[in-house]
Amino acid sequence: MKKLGFGFMRLPLRNTEDPANVDIEQVIQMVDHYLDRGFTYFDTAYMYHGFTSENIIRQVLTSRYPRDRFVLTTKMPTMRLQKKADLNRIFNEQLSKCGVDYFDYYLLHNLNTSHYEIAERLDAFVFIQEKKRIGQARKIGFSYHDGPQLLDHILTEHPYVDVVQLQINYLDWDSAGIQSKNCYDIARRHGKEVIVMEPVKGGALANVPEEVQQLFAQAAPGRSPASWAIRFAASLDGVLTVLSGMSNLEQLMDNTGYMEDFQPLNAAERKIVAQAAAILKKSIAIPCTGCNYCIQGCPEGIPIPTYFSLYNAEMQSLRRGFSVQQVYYENYAKNHSKASACIQCGQCESQCPQHLPVIQWLKKVVDVLEE
Ligand code: SF4
Ligand code: SF4
Repeated sequence: MKKLGFGFMRLPLRNTEDPANVDIEQVIQMVDHYLDRGFTYFDTAYMYHGFTSENIIRQVLTSRYPRDRFVLTTKMPTMRLQKKADLNRIFNEQLSKCGVDYFDYYLLHNLNTSHYEIAERLDAFVFIQEKKRIGQARKIGFSYHDGPQLLDHILTEHPYVDVVQLQINYLDWDSAGIQSKNCYDIARRHGKEVIVMEPVKGGALANVPEEVQQLFAQAAPGRSPASWAIRFAASLDGVLTVLSGMSNLEQLMDNTGYMEDFQPLNAAERKIVAQAAAILKKSIAIPCTGCNYCIQGCPEGIPIPTYFSLYNAEMQSLRRGFSVQQVYYENYAKNHSKASACIQCGQCESQCPQHLPVIQWLKKVVDVLEE
């Protein structure tokens, strides 16, 4: 299988304010080109795109192509489970929404300390094992957003899982927060195949500062910054596929172009990536991936990732005179709560897979972007 997976979590939107308002015609073109170039792996989840991503899979993929043309993965929303009966109800709903009678890979979504506790209390691992036994899930596993110790514990307790989905990119590889390398090493020590998520860190490694762009351009003119990030992740042993949340046809054509005949990074290229990481570490203020998990429970409805992205752009700009970020912020704040509306309830921090101190960062947003 080619090592580029098509993630259905950042599809092109017709209205950027509405995650469910997806540009279906463009997604159809993207799916057709992706399959034409020999790629097969599609990744969705119950909650992506305002709970519509699985319906979109049916509309653009499963109703248009025979079942053996694609590999399909979806995920049980562990964070939404309240009772055991929810497992079967949601799973059946997912089969119906996706328009299939089995999933190639079925994962428990976003395990961390609290979600693992829910999974254990409700026997979610027993449930997915049973789905595998009866053929409704060909392979099983979980996606993971926590530290290496808990990962080791889960894999020791549940040695039968086939795959683990981990956040791996060259910026988080040796970071103290995400610890991509330590988690990857543990998964491999347990003999698991790894599905990589966030290889371009929510777009941060695609839209790199000028200095990094020049570094990459000198080494390989014409190759996109994203190509370095995706090839870095795909070069690791035991990686089944690298998911890319492609947001338009242009990105898809770029990604499939260099991954069609994938070449792992050589030693000189690995050095360049390490240099890029060092430069980026100095320039990205808030390592938010824009996953939106924090927004759902915010009682004030603060668009946290949008404000963080504006803050990052503001910090990367020269910050002289007119600030386009400030204009965006003011416009945004007309229809949404400002960062200063935060009541410090902590709900967002408990949901953040990147373990960001959201409350502290929102205070910085107030300092920099609010008049
Ligand atoms: S701490 Fe602030 S930003 Fe976070 S959920 Fe509560 S009100 Fe929203
Ligand atoms: S603050 Fe955390 S949860 Fe919210 S979008 Fe950023 S990375 Fe995701």
